[in-house]
Amino acid sequence: MGTVKRLLLNSLLLPGFPASLKYVQRHCATVFMLHRFQDAERGIAGCDVSHLRRALAYLIKNDYEFVSLIDLFDRLAGKGPQPSGAVAFTIDDGYIDQATIAAPIFAEFGCPVTTFVSTGFLDGKLWFWWDQIAHVFVHTTRRSVQVRMGDTVLDYRWENEDQRIRAQAEFTAACKVVPDSQRLAAIAQLAQSAEVEIPNTPTPHCAPMSWEDVRACEKVGMSFGPHTVTHPVLSRTTHEEADYEITESWARLCAEAQSPVPVFCYPNGGWGDFGEREVAVLRRLGFLGAVVGEPGYANALAFQRSQDDRFKVRRFGFPDELPHMIQYVSGVERFKQILRRSI
Ligand SMILES: [Zn+2]
Repeated sequence: MGTVKRLLLNSLLLPGFPASLKYVQRHCATVFMLHRFQDAERGIAGCDVSHLRRALAYLIKNDYEFVSLIDLFDRLAGKGPQPSGAVAFTIDDGYIDQATIAAPIFAEFGCPVTTFVSTGFLDGKLWFWWDQIAHVFVHTTRRSVQVRMGDTVLDYRWENEDQRIRAQAEFTAACKVVPDSQRLAAIAQLAQSAEVEIPNTPTPHCAPMSWEDVRACEKVGMSFGPHTVTHPVLSRTTHEEADYEITESWARLCAEAQSPVPVFCYPNGGWGDFGEREVAVLRRLGFLGAVVGEPGYANALAFQRSQDDRFKVRRFGFPDELPHMIQYVSGVERFKQILRRSI
């Protein structure tokens, strides 16, 4: 057993263990990532708002510091105090419920939150491709679809709801690993095969917030960062497309928002979903950094050690259960990571 692991295990036995966890967290902050928020009126399933309220109340009661994303990036860079276990919240995509449901709740608790928006969605030029896929699978009366994707023909058949949901998930996953143009063609074929017409504008529960919503939310503590124009998986786009998606989304956000945040959020957000090419564009535009969808803490030591790490700041998906959230913010999860590394 390594020395570090032995020391950490011994510290579990100390009466002041929570204090030692705070020590473990001194260079780190927890950044949470959220998406949709429950809204019965619009038929939106998502984060349970009473759970969100309970979680925010817990963090306040237990003296966790809320930090805005822009302040956090400064602190990660060594400007200002250490992150010291501060907590930042982020929301992805720019859906209507993020303005109408989430913004007032975060405001009620005095908690800053940054929403990453796909600007073509807010401009009314598109609706998200995974929502279009869901629309087709939900509305089709057929029990099978065939779609050509590249050299293969995807053939889905279902007898019941569970199988239909699985087919939808598999088709959505398949769309993430092909070039952008192939994905768009496959979705058009899917609609044809399923005999469902995809409307030009999103259905009410898939609708975006407006730019007026953006400015109103800014007044109550929500800030906004760019999340491309059309939400492609950037690593599946051409050089020109990737450059356009980043540059244009930043330009649109700067034109519409009062205080746009120069921190980018990669669509899909996995390690394979972006690369050096995207980081180079962000550097050229003067971004402070970027967030990914991979789980982990925002770590000031890593941030300051490498110019690259500031474009790969990790986030945890916001857990459905309070004990899981406590595990992240308290540093228990970090403690486990250190143990794993030292074994
Ligand atoms: Zn997204």
